[in-house]
Amino acid sequence: MNIYGDWGNIVAITKRCQWRGIRVDYVPIHGADDFSHVESGDLFFWGGGQDADQMSVFRIIESAKNHFVQTITRLVQQDKVFLLVCGGYQMFGRYFIDAQGNKIPGLGILDIETKASGPGVTERCIGNVIIKTELELEPQTIVGFENHGGQTTFVAGSNQGLQPLGHVIRGHGNTLRGGVEGCVFRNVYGTYLHGPILPKNPHFADHLIAQALRVKYQTNIELAALDDTLEWHAHTAALKLAV
Ligand code: GLN
Repeated sequence: MNIYGDWGNIVAITKRCQWRGIRVDYVPIHGADDFSHVESGDLFFWGGGQDADQMSVFRIIESAKNHFVQTITRLVQQDKVFLLVCGGYQMFGRYFIDAQGNKIPGLGILDIETKASGPGVTERCIGNVIIKTELELEPQTIVGFENHGGQTTFVAGSNQGLQPLGHVIRGHGNTLRGGVEGCVFRNVYGTYLHGPILPKNPHFADHLIAQALRVKYQTNIELAALDDTLEWHAHTAALKLAV
């Protein structure tokens, strides 16, 4: 899935690797038949989608859901890196109930549940967002744009120890007024931030790349610095936009 520029995250990861001489083989997954490549993957991305798109994607997955869930669960336990944006984030959870009351089952990988608060535009989370992340990033701000009806909550009593990606400084995040955004579990990063999120947050992009390489080669890897002048201009501009 890909909405509101999410594809740009694939471009950002690919270019930030290639600029460092790191080869990237991008493998799209259109359905269960493409799933054979997944085991060898190092960094996975699932973008956002409109409610109807999510139901369509679930229908595609449904025929091989057990295999899908078992494989992804194994990869998550191997600390493989996942970036999940909005609809993709929602579908890693238990379910998404859309504004019309349609229940779209999720993969149940994350102990999160999502329910649209209603069909009205005032019941959607829309606008520019700034969060303060607890990840070891400098600066601690992550910026982006959100447009979702789904309100995501962490399942009470879960033993996953889910943490938010950050606390909301401006905007909504997981819910209209909950004050937290996204979710981190092992190396699974869920977020509502579109934009795409990574070009304006080069520190977060590099965190994902470095984590994927550390897991792949089982050693600590520090990435060479890049000239991120333009990326930080975009980040700073987004900080001003959300005021
Ligand atoms: N359709 C979902 C919602 O409205 C996800 C939207 C998105 O991916 N931006 O909550």
